[in-house]
Amino acid sequence: MFNSSAVTGNTGFGNRIFRYEVVGLRQSNESDKSDYAIRRSGSVFYNVPYARMNQFMQEISRLGGKIISILPITAETAAQASVIPPTPIVEAATPAPEPTAKKAKADVPVNTYRPNNPLISKVISNEELVREGGEGTVKHIVFDLEGSDLTYVEGQSIGIIPAGTDDKGKPHKLRLYSIASTRHGDRVDDKTISLCVRQLEYKNKETGEKVYGVCSSYLNQLQPGDEVKITGPVGKEMLLPDDPTATIVMMGTGTGIAPFRAYLWRMFKENNPDYQFKGLAWLFFGVAYTPNILYKEELEEIQAKYPDNFRLTYAISREQKTADGGKMYIQGRIAEHADELWNLIQQKNTHVYMCGLKGMEPGIDEAMTQAAAKNGVDWTEFLKGTLKKEGRWHVETY
Ligand SMILES: Cc1cc2nc3c(=O)[nH]c(=O)nc-3n(C[C@H](O)[C@H](O)[C@H](O)COP(=O)(O)OP(=O)(O)OC[C@H]3O[C@@H](n4cnc5c(N)ncnc54)[C@H](O)[C@@H]3O)c2cc1C
Repeated sequence: MFNSSAVTGNTGFGNRIFRYEVVGLRQSNESDKSDYAIRRSGSVFYNVPYARMNQFMQEISRLGGKIISILPITAETAAQASVIPPTPIVEAATPAPEPTAKKAKADVPVNTYRPNNPLISKVISNEELVREGGEGTVKHIVFDLEGSDLTYVEGQSIGIIPAGTDDKGKPHKLRLYSIASTRHGDRVDDKTISLCVRQLEYKNKETGEKVYGVCSSYLNQLQPGDEVKITGPVGKEMLLPDDPTATIVMMGTGTGIAPFRAYLWRMFKENNPDYQFKGLAWLFFGVAYTPNILYKEELEEIQAKYPDNFRLTYAISREQKTADGGKMYIQGRIAEHADELWNLIQQKNTHVYMCGLKGMEPGIDEAMTQAAAKNGVDWTEFLKGTLKKEGRWHVETY
């Protein structure tokens, strides 16, 4: 179901309540004023309305506390919401959870198929994702894995070796593509793998002639039943943490949605006993026009069904404007929500994922630099010394 609020980035969170787990608080506002020692006695929980999140976080920070997790809670418990200054509703003796940080990567499959011995797979389907009025062509392509040894997890990529030879008569080199399906595939039978491929098209600056990319054009014209050479899987940078209560912030442009589609299916469309997602997933998705919103129906259906756990924020550059009248690129939306994002990434179980064209990186870096500066922090140092060190900042741009 279409949710118009998604387009503006307002996801209707205003009435929602979130449960904060905090450690390391000073005794109270009073003791704070007297500079008392910080009490470090396990976790304290607060229910906070969405509208007061920023204020609450500032208060916690002033009291020397550290927010360990933020979870959306249901409407029934909303009445218990504490006001600021915070009053604990539950005090638990349990220690703060370990940071989700680095997933055990050893059991993630890599290079099952290499270029000298690729998997020969068949195309099951190849469908256009760009709707009328959109720019370019992007295909959702499903390949058959029946009888093969290819297994993979969400966030990995595969290689495709296009048919034919290059201008020197040598076989084409492989190109990498992010996997757009979960490990169970679109049919949830463990027998398929899907890609989301944009046909590269640009104008040669000298001749003005249109140039089409070799592999993306090859993939674009494939028909069901055609054979394709596949290598991989590869990549461990974009893996999801095991923690089903984590906050997963996704920033994607164009086909950068591919791994995020896999995450969202794993979180919300499949019923995985070992991964019942209860955290918060927030997708920032940048495209040129509304018809270029890839997987729009799927995304909005998930949002309508799980409004407490999935937040969807579009940046539609040719249709939406920033407050100062500029085009709304993804970094514009990141800048709009920079304070909230800044607060979220202070939590040890928040992971940020970026995927899409390389050009998206500097703008996001700039927005986060400003948010960090407001809090007296050097973004470059925080990124390197905290987020990357803890394995919570994941980038795959191309
Ligand atoms: C980890 C990873 C994941 C990826 N995932 C995806 C994905 O999910 N979906 C997807 O569509 N792509 C993805 N890509 C990109 C993909 O691998 C290919 O690079 C892309 O499809 C283009 O390949 P091609 O063979 O069609 O183009 P090629 O024939 O190889 O042409 C590419 C070359 O064209 C030139 N070129 C490109 N644009 C211009 C321009 N505007 N002006 C002048 N010259 C230009 C450059 O020299 C460039 O190297 C991913 C890349 C990586 C590294």
